Amino acid sequence: MANEKIPYKIYLSEEELPKQWYNVRADMKKKPAPMINPGTGKPVTKADLTPVFCDELVDQELNETDAYIDIPQEIQDFYKMYRPAPLVRAYCLEKALGTPAKIYYKFEGNNTSGSHKLNSAIAQAYYAKKQGLKGVTTETGAGQWGTALSMACSYFGLDCHVYMVKVSYEQKPFRREVMRTYGASITPSPSTTTEVGRKILAEFPDTNGSLGCAISEAVEVAVSNEGYRYVLGSVLSQVLLHQSVIGLEAKTAMDKYGIKPDIIIGCAGGGSNLGGLIAPFMGEKLRGEADYRFIAVEPASCPSLTRGTYAYDFCDTGKVCPMQKMYTLGSGFMPSPNHAGGLRYHGMSAVLSELYDQGLMEAVSYEQTAVFEAAQRFARVEGILPAPESSHAIRCAIDEALKCKETGEEKTILFGLTGTGYFDMYAYAAYNDGKMTDYIPTDEEIAASIAKLPKIG
Ligand SMILES: *Cc1c(COP(=O)(O)O)cnc(C)c1O
Repeated sequence: MANEKIPYKIYLSEEELPKQWYNVRADMKKKPAPMINPGTGKPVTKADLTPVFCDELVDQELNETDAYIDIPQEIQDFYKMYRPAPLVRAYCLEKALGTPAKIYYKFEGNNTSGSHKLNSAIAQAYYAKKQGLKGVTTETGAGQWGTALSMACSYFGLDCHVYMVKVSYEQKPFRREVMRTYGASITPSPSTTTEVGRKILAEFPDTNGSLGCAISEAVEVAVSNEGYRYVLGSVLSQVLLHQSVIGLEAKTAMDKYGIKPDIIIGCAGGGSNLGGLIAPFMGEKLRGEADYRFIAVEPASCPSLTRGTYAYDFCDTGKVCPMQKMYTLGSGFMPSPNHAGGLRYHGMSAVLSELYDQGLMEAVSYEQTAVFEAAQRFARVEGILPAPESSHAIRCAIDEALKCKETGEEKTILFGLTGTGYFDMYAYAAYNDGKMTDYIPTDEEIAASIAKLPKIG
């Protein structure tokens, strides 16, 4: 099909929206390693997980065999309020770059939470409500997940308690107010409200906090309060499952116009948007039906895939969660305060880690000044002010498009534009003022953290 026939934005009708999520694990010959219960040293069972997570979400977490899982009607109805997310042809960016590459992005920033996180938040809140729970607890880094969960909980009338990484709590007061508007209560983490928080504060009194600490606090509160469970916005296989709506919609839209991406790019914090975006395409690759290049993009300050180790590790600093085999920098790794808060996680989804380990996916890392240069370039031609996290994918897409300019190849590039950056204006200010710095951990720092990994198998 000729270029000019492809619209700037490809939307889908309500009938074309996904009615099932796609579970990529079903098509993986070698599955991700099982989670381990740190108490028994054995693979986790349903009984281990149900005190922490909602029952149906535990089933989804442990389900490696069903390729398709029905999206409950209530969730489909909620999705209709802000989905489909548009698939945009970046004609203006292509022109500005002078590249023969065709660039598409799937834009997930069209809801108040400003990111893709609402796709999983609404699903998790739904299952909590269905189970008759009073509420949920969670962590939030930059605040997108906390916002999304607050929205989802208010929709279903659930209590929502958010532990927010301290540096973000201080830097992003407006995020906090959005969450409070939706009825959530917010505590900066580490805090003195939990045992694990007090312990971390005693050891590191000046800490900025981290996602790993906030997770530990939220889990402690969930398991010690009747009628509460903990929910997590990334990393877990259930979250990648919910986020498959991104990829399923993108694939339907592309198939409609006969477009086949050569390269699919996404930023990777815990891996949920990338896992969701690539899911149906990866399924085709795993089944031998098609081939694609997949690229995970991470910050140079928190390079779990590119410089981490594939090993069992704790998912949280307080070591209260199950252990997972993943690419990790060590659960004690304290990433420098990079502006892409949503990417400051020491580990990576077990599913993506395994796909990466099998050589089915690539990974690159960028320093934040290079990322913001791409963000500014994109904002000026495509009209959207991107989130710093999303801008990692933009940077990589631009670089791939510039390679095409050199070689003359007309590759088709698809990237995930996960959200908007309106709450990241301090970061933009630092960039605009020329005051942004880059911090890359040394090999010694990473090795010291890796040396503390739990000794398992
Ligand atoms: C949370 C977040 C990310 C990173 O999380 P993943 O689970 O890796 O997708 C990326 N972009 C935005 C806008 C986010 O809010």
